[in-house]
Amino acid sequence: MMMVSLGRQVSLKNASELELMRTAGRINAEALAAAKAAIRPGASTADLESAVDAVHQKYKVYSPFKNYAPGGLPPYPSSITVCINEELVHGIPGKQRKLRSGDIVSVDCGTVWQGFVGDSAFTIGVGEISAEAEKLLDVTEQALYAGISQMRPGNRTGDVSAAIQRVVESSGFHVTRIYTGHGVGRSMHEGPQVPNYGIPGRGLLLRPGMTIALEPMVLVGTPHTYTLDDQWTVASIDGSLTAHFEHSVAVTEDGPMILTLLGDGHSPVEITGHLREDVI
Ligand code: MG
Ligand code: MG
Repeated sequence: MMMVSLGRQVSLKNASELELMRTAGRINAEALAAAKAAIRPGASTADLESAVDAVHQKYKVYSPFKNYAPGGLPPYPSSITVCINEELVHGIPGKQRKLRSGDIVSVDCGTVWQGFVGDSAFTIGVGEISAEAEKLLDVTEQALYAGISQMRPGNRTGDVSAAIQRVVESSGFHVTRIYTGHGVGRSMHEGPQVPNYGIPGRGLLLRPGMTIALEPMVLVGTPHTYTLDDQWTVASIDGSLTAHFEHSVAVTEDGPMILTLLGDGHSPVEITGHLREDVI
């Protein structure tokens, strides 16, 4: 999820708080891996939620998505969001909605551990997918890692945003102008807001201890979206395919540390050379 209003507080995390965020992120990665393992033709989107819930129950944690109700919206009814094809973000899972071969499906999930939030998302094909869909997934993931590589002390949020935008637009695709990355910590949505477009050298100065969820949301045919009658699901206005990848990332003296990966992650993660399969 990424609905953010301007003016939210930016908070710096100390080493012990980063450890808690790392644990939240690792559990979130395990939950997403369980959702990924449940993806197959004929599975319902509710099956993916069940897989996530089982991981959360194992650790006695919960998702901050459930009952999230910003700005008068109806409380969000699920612990994850699931989006298929033209759906960009905030899709509500359900038993009736089945995955089909050729679909691309994105899953976004959050985890709260000892008061700190991990937030990450991935998109993957169901069975065989089109060459265009493969390219979209590759570009969107590359955009995420291009943004992460800019998460260094002395850079600004505009450097992160511009890196994401450059990867996406040089491939002929589009970024949403409405939904953005965001600070993450004791709250799912803190400052700063980090759009998927921007100008290098502008924006907030990045400092060690800042933790930001970067989340390129990419559309094949248009930057424009609309919201379905359920008041949550956001889809491309032209019906073209969309993709979404997200990691929660800390700025450290040693460079970016991805908080929402599996593995021990206690040292800054080497971020070059990632393939899509490594994201969760
Ligand atoms: Mg998310
Ligand atoms: Mg987010």
